[in-house]
Amino acid sequence: MSEALVSLHNVTLAYRRHPAVHHVSGTLARGSLTAVVGPNGAGKSTLLKGILGQLPAQEGKVMLHLPASCIAYLPQQSALERQFPITVLDAVLLGAWTRRGLLGGIAHGERERALTALGEVGLSGFAARPVGTLSVGQFQRVLFARLMMQDAELILLDEPFNAIDARTTADLLALVHRWHAAGRTVLAVLHDHQQVRAHFPSTLLLARRLIAWGDSAEVLSAAHLQAAQDMIEAWDDHARPCAPELAA
Ligand code: ADP
Ligand code: MG
Repeated sequence: MSEALVSLHNVTLAYRRHPAVHHVSGTLARGSLTAVVGPNGAGKSTLLKGILGQLPAQEGKVMLHLPASCIAYLPQQSALERQFPITVLDAVLLGAWTRRGLLGGIAHGERERALTALGEVGLSGFAARPVGTLSVGQFQRVLFARLMMQDAELILLDEPFNAIDARTTADLLALVHRWHAAGRTVLAVLHDHQQVRAHFPSTLLLARRLIAWGDSAEVLSAAHLQAAQDMIEAWDDHARPCAPELAA
């Protein structure tokens, strides 16, 4: 049995006590490379927020077997950020601030690390470019470089290849494989099942409840995918909260 990095024990996550993800149990093994898949509204982003502790479990327990500061997170849709009038290098250096805290300042070596990270994502020579001048794919490369500045043990990616061109996707997938080979643990929300089968050994299939979690080829069976679809279609978003509303 491989060592658990994150364990979920009957986890229910809710917004204003309306459950979005129900009774999920399972283990994310240290060093694993896992895709999170499921229909729209399945609770995939919510699950990531639960692991990050951004959303406390309403029921059950999320157990982290690593410090929360060792988790890096790329949220879904960061396009807005591209409007900020900062350079590519400064955007990457923001990752170092996340790691050290703003008051820690940028240490001497961080600039070098940021430039190295830019090289790894294929953006050598882009350091001085304003981020507003980048294509969507190039900006996604910047966000991956920033993520690398955190030197995180666990990396959570929420739809990292959504609306990203094929070339960029291939390059960033290769980067994910290098992280995996270096022993990091990666959990990524993805939609392309073919891509998942080709690149992600493990899959967590979510449809508000856990449908299956394990070997990708087994999890992505026609029967499981149909079960996920049925579950989402049957879900009543206006169901009463789990606990009665407190009197105002
Ligand atoms: P996915 O990422 O799989 O598309 P989400 O985790 O974003 O699904 O959403 C799961 C459910 O939780 C949806 O019904 C969504 O409307 C609801 N939800 C997501 N974020 C919030 C929020 N901030 N407040 C209230 N409900 C939310
Ligand atoms: Mg989402």
